[in-house]
Amino acid sequence: MSVTDPTRYDPDRSQLAELLEGEPAYRIEQAWDGLYRQGRPLEEVTGLPAALRSRLAEALPTALELAVEQRTDDGATTKWLWRLRDGAAVETVLMHYPDRTTVCVSTQAGCAMACGFCATGQAGFERHLGVGEIVEQVVRARWAAGDRRVSNVVFMGMGEPLANLDATWGAVTRLHDDVGIGARHLTVSTVGLVPGIRRLAAAELPVGLAVSLHAADDDLRDELVPINRRYPLAELLDACEEYRRRTRRRISLEWALIDGVNDRWVDADGLAVIARRLAAHVNLIPLNPTPGYEVVGSSRNRVHAFRERVAGAGVTVTIRDTRGRDIDAACGQLRAGSASSGTGAGVPVDLQRPDRTRRDPT
Ligand code: SAH
Repeated sequence: MSVTDPTRYDPDRSQLAELLEGEPAYRIEQAWDGLYRQGRPLEEVTGLPAALRSRLAEALPTALELAVEQRTDDGATTKWLWRLRDGAAVETVLMHYPDRTTVCVSTQAGCAMACGFCATGQAGFERHLGVGEIVEQVVRARWAAGDRRVSNVVFMGMGEPLANLDATWGAVTRLHDDVGIGARHLTVSTVGLVPGIRRLAAAELPVGLAVSLHAADDDLRDELVPINRRYPLAELLDACEEYRRRTRRRISLEWALIDGVNDRWVDADGLAVIARRLAAHVNLIPLNPTPGYEVVGSSRNRVHAFRERVAGAGVTVTIRDTRGRDIDAACGQLRAGSASSGTGAGVPVDLQRPDRTRRDPT
């Protein structure tokens, strides 16, 4: 099967009608409703005749086959490693908070941005995901969430969403129009691809934008986020200002705190200047250790002191809780740890932690 063959969540309404040619219009609506509003596995979409269900299943196979499922944080975090139809692997994370439920989706298998501290970046780029492969991650997570309604989707999984903007945008509109998630509850995270930020600024839906800043001067950022050599800070910040002006949305700046690298006062002060200029919110992420990067995350004390320093300059700043750390659930590590991913990065996670992991029985 080629990666361009449509999967279950690829077609729009009219393409679905074409695929189900001969069926009455109300059946098409019923199928659409089953796929998106109910979001059930096809076998459970009651009301659809069995013949139609099997016609659908054959024309539109699911994109994602479960490879590994892990649960942690007392059941508040679930992470899936999916096998795509061509064998590529991507991750999705579902996180319940007291006030919201968030799904974190991947937009590419691998990533070409090569940020040294990121597990996905270390493994390199495999391919873009299609709209259906992104949307299905949300539908499957939503089904697993049961009564806890999925309120937010963040494009912060594997890959660089703005390097795959057409599919990312296709997924954004599908999630907005058909899954029913408001633009305020959709957030796209980027390393800072300036043309993509400008395209998003001009788009119809004002989604949230998170920018992975990590450094406030070009020398350090060139090292941590190599794409900075192509789109240096001055250009990036201009694009962010345009985004803010046109969408009227507050940008978040992401900052993974790395011991002795970007957690000095000079870094905090540089970050505060940028955050004030953009009226941005700052999200500090204690660095998750990854196998391919020697430097470690800042200590707890340092993270808090850094926060105080930035907050003292009049910036709103939060520390992101690192969900699922004990199950390698952060930042591409599930795939990196899976023997079948082809990265050769160690034994499968489910062998490391048999108590928390199960493999799909199929
Ligand atoms: N490519 C996009 C989205 C995916 S990464 C982007 O870079 O924004 C989502 C966030 O996790 C980014 O802010 C990224 O820099 C951060 N991240 C990657 N590896 C990390 C690690 N080991 N520890 C903490 N944060 C990490």
